[in-house]
Amino acid sequence: MFLSLFGRRKPKPSETYSFVVTAVNPITRRERILQRIEEKCIRLEVEENSPGGVGCHVWTGGTSGRGKGGGYGRMSLDGRTVAVHITSWICHHGPIAPRWELDHKCNNRLCREDKHLELVTRKVNNDRRLERFACRK
Ligand SMILES: [Zn+2]
Repeated sequence: MFLSLFGRRKPKPSETYSFVVTAVNPITRRERILQRIEEKCIRLEVEENSPGGVGCHVWTGGTSGRGKGGGYGRMSLDGRTVAVHITSWICHHGPIAPRWELDHKCNNRLCREDKHLELVTRKVNNDRRLERFACRK
């Protein structure tokens, strides 16, 4: 049996068992991406108005900078720069249809907590943004 897998030499123990580990615990691409995201996130404490009763899960890596469209988590994936919260959502729920956007119910753009993100139309997202902006004035 070893002959077909490893040729003529006797396999090292690590080689013999490596395929078992892969078979028992197959880490999919999606899980690998989520793992990468989770490694760079910290969990904030639950606040009174925390959506879903959980604290924000905040990205500590690179961001889209300041200014318009700024403040969102950014990561590199297959040589492209992508938004962390969108990537995280897609890993959990699948692709996002055109003209639909993710709204941060917690108002924290660095947050990738699934319970804090809501899929809404662009119009709803814009309306909510204006509403929040008006509240802050
Ligand atoms: Zn949040």
